[in-house]
Amino acid sequence: MATYNKVLIALDFHGDNDQIIEKGKQIAADNGSGLHLIHVNEPITMAYTADGMSFNDQVIALEASIRKESREKMDNLGSEMNIAEDRRLVREGVPAREIHEVVKELGIDLIVMGTHGQSGLKLLLGSTANSVLHGVSCDVLTVRVYDA
Ligand code: AMP
Repeated sequence: MATYNKVLIALDFHGDNDQIIEKGKQIAADNGSGLHLIHVNEPITMAYTADGMSFNDQVIALEASIRKESREKMDNLGSEMNIAEDRRLVREGVPAREIHEVVKELGIDLIVMGTHGQSGLKLLLGSTANSVLHGVSCDVLTVRVYDA
């Protein structure tokens, strides 16, 4: 039976995170694993321009405020869970790509993430979960998230 030394919990900071966190904590307790948390800020890539007027500044300000808010959420959660600061990761970029990078950098052996049971394409796996599974070098636990 696999024993996991380093478990990474991937969080999008939406409403369902509690179920994912609980599952990650439970697995870490059962295996005596170290826990890491990750949230990835996705950049707003488009700089809107209309009638010669650039909205670049607003986009930059919005990105800065999203970055600040996610850092705060991560730190609040990390201290609640007693997770060391260097294990509370906030990255910028495409979530699946950043998660793959972190897995390699830190030698993570299990990712715990959510999957949204909605309808159509998202019935089985949410798109981030699906992308993470492609080419990942460790085990992945996708937690079936139920809407409250
Ligand atoms: P989704 O594909 O957006 O429905 O997300 C499925 C799961 O992927 C979420 O429950 C999280 O565990 C993870 N995830 C999605 N977006 C992010 C993100 N920006 N940063 C970290 N994890 C994420």
